[in-house]
Amino acid sequence: MLSTQLSIQKKLPYILLHRVLVPLILCLSFGGSAWAAPSCGELRHRWYGRYVRDLKVSWSTKNFTCRKKKAKRVDDGLVALALYDLETARFRGRPAAPVSSAVNFYELVKKSVSKLEYDSGCEEGVLASALGTVVTLCDEYFADSREDRAATLVHEARHTQADDADHVSCVGGKYKDDDQGCDQTFYSGLWKGSGYNADIVFYHWNMHKSLRRNELSKSVMQSMINSMIPDRFNQISAKSIKDWRKFNPQLPDGGILVL
Ligand SMILES: [Zn+2]
Repeated sequence: MLSTQLSIQKKLPYILLHRVLVPLILCLSFGGSAWAAPSCGELRHRWYGRYVRDLKVSWSTKNFTCRKKKAKRVDDGLVALALYDLETARFRGRPAAPVSSAVNFYELVKKSVSKLEYDSGCEEGVLASALGTVVTLCDEYFADSREDRAATLVHEARHTQADDADHVSCVGGKYKDDDQGCDQTFYSGLWKGSGYNADIVFYHWNMHKSLRRNELSKSVMQSMINSMIPDRFNQISAKSIKDWRKFNPQLPDGGILVL
């Protein structure tokens, strides 16, 4: 009996450390909150070491500021941050192809975009555009939210793909008669249709399948979804929304994404 007690006393520090403290620290580090913000140095390293080359950035990339909110014109640090957010997002399961075959949203954008340009003279209200596989960022892109700057790269990547259905004129809602304001059909979270469907796929995966390894705000993404659903799709039925809301986390990798 005594020897058992002594043995337990000897093991106590070990048990405390390995069975209590380490799991607790791991839990707090990985599950309890968002990961720490990337440092300016890390973003700079990724930008000059890889992103500029991967995305074939065409503007002069000498000015890298480390602001993380908004800017009035081109800011390399903000593009680096958007790419960082795409690259570091981790999900439970995998989105449907082609995101799954590209590994993640960063790889998808990298594969899809042959050149990333900047234009200081875009039309008012335009954040970015795609012509063939060349994507152009406008001043308004840099004044946008961090969440939408990341989503916009995914949106434009969709436009570079051969089966992009392109936008159409809205038949109703807030953007009625806006020439390129809508996608014709809401595809319940499938990688189909055009850029607004791509936004929905990106936001949905970050909202519901994220392992919280990025800092994108769920409330901002939810409000983006809420504003898009009624106004960015010409054909959207109660059933397609119901299908989308029935989120099933048990889907096999590469399976059809039913939200
Ligand atoms: Zn678009």
